[in-house]
Amino acid sequence: MLTNDQLGNWDRENFFHPSTHLAQFARGDAPQRIVSTGKGVFIEDREGTKLLDAFAGLYCVNVGYGRPEIADAIAEQAKELAYYHAYAGHGTEASITLAKMVLDRAPDHMSKVYFGLSGSDANETNIKLVWYYNNILGRPEKKKIISRWRGYHGSGLMTGSLTGLELFHKKFDLPLSQVIHTEAPYYYRREDTAQSEADFVAHCAAELEALIEREGPDTIAAMIGEPVLGTGGIVPPPAGYWDAIQAVLNKYDILLIADEVVTGFGRLGSMFGSAHYGIKPDIITIAKGLTSAYAPLSGSIISDKVWKVLEKGTDENGVIGHGWTYAAHPIGAAAGVANLSLIDSLGLVENAGKTGAYLNKAMTDAIGDHPNVGEVRGEGMLCAVELVENKGSRKFYDPAGQTGAKVVAAMLKRGVIARAMPQGDIIGFAPPLCLSEAEADQIVAAT
Ligand code: PLP
Repeated sequence: MLTNDQLGNWDRENFFHPSTHLAQFARGDAPQRIVSTGKGVFIEDREGTKLLDAFAGLYCVNVGYGRPEIADAIAEQAKELAYYHAYAGHGTEASITLAKMVLDRAPDHMSKVYFGLSGSDANETNIKLVWYYNNILGRPEKKKIISRWRGYHGSGLMTGSLTGLELFHKKFDLPLSQVIHTEAPYYYRREDTAQSEADFVAHCAAELEALIEREGPDTIAAMIGEPVLGTGGIVPPPAGYWDAIQAVLNKYDILLIADEVVTGFGRLGSMFGSAHYGIKPDIITIAKGLTSAYAPLSGSIISDKVWKVLEKGTDENGVIGHGWTYAAHPIGAAAGVANLSLIDSLGLVENAGKTGAYLNKAMTDAIGDHPNVGEVRGEGMLCAVELVENKGSRKFYDPAGQTGAKVVAAMLKRGVIARAMPQGDIIGFAPPLCLSEAEADQIVAAT
């Protein structure tokens, strides 16, 4: 067996890690952890350090680590049929079953699901489909996509453009010109502190409408948004936000893509964030919670309205020129079937609502009054702590996020993994949906 030193050296010499300070890592100045096992909400590294993973990997290991039901389903699928493609009407029992299971759980007006691999590629698919849709409807000018500042939708060329965080644009020549950004529904950081939530919602809707009018409604195809802003700071929307936004989009015949990569399959205590907030999207993006990350798989759930136009498009133009080799990969699909069954049998959607509320309350009770905590906020199994200079100024304690990063590093020494969110001084929590109250207490105590 390789020694830890050997592995560590190979890691620095050969491995290009995503979202990492490359130079510091190569020099050995940045954290390095070689993870070896996981069980429940805990992971363990090669040094034998056991950590409570209060971010479920990257908010994806929703059923927790080490579930034999999913591992067995993957092994059986690999032995029986590791791969066959899904082009030209080919399928497997796993992919067809999973499509049915996803549609059974999705809002009623959804019609079909296309399976990809990652949240990023699913959103790339969505934008292509929206463009295709408008071409088939004879409106080739209607192509721009509205996203929100602080939204996160991936880090490809288009999806990195949709993402409204500076880190993902800087030095990459993004965003692409087809993408325009509007205000985030971030009530705590509203400019006008006298604004009520209702006033702020009206302001967000008015900003959106002004942007649409400025750009020209005939040039705008769709808006994309996460039901709860995730990587941008874990920001639940103020009451009435989605109703107000949808009214504007409907007025200008603009499609809505709900990016449910984080919120899909239970994280908010509802099966989908769309159901949670009464959103009626035209397309829903799913990934992470679809397989609880036991295998890579994502999806684009398409509404009846969009699907009818896609069918018309192929009647007029032939086969749709879109697909990945690994679309609907049987091993991912088998993981998805086992994962969704487990979410049901363990009652994890309910637990996310119940224990998530417990975690948010316990966190608020413990540190909400701290002079440097501006806000503790969350929804379901999502929670964030915002660090400020003082409660009056609401200025980030350190706009570069270094204080949050230090708190997160100190929490690691207390056995808990939290995440310093990439923009602003915000500490994020998104534990597996199977979290217990005792484990929630452990997270709060470490914080
Ligand atoms: N959309 C949302 C809301 C996400 O949070 C993420 C990833 O965190 C993505 C899309 C991109 O998914 P992936 O990293 O699988 O490409």
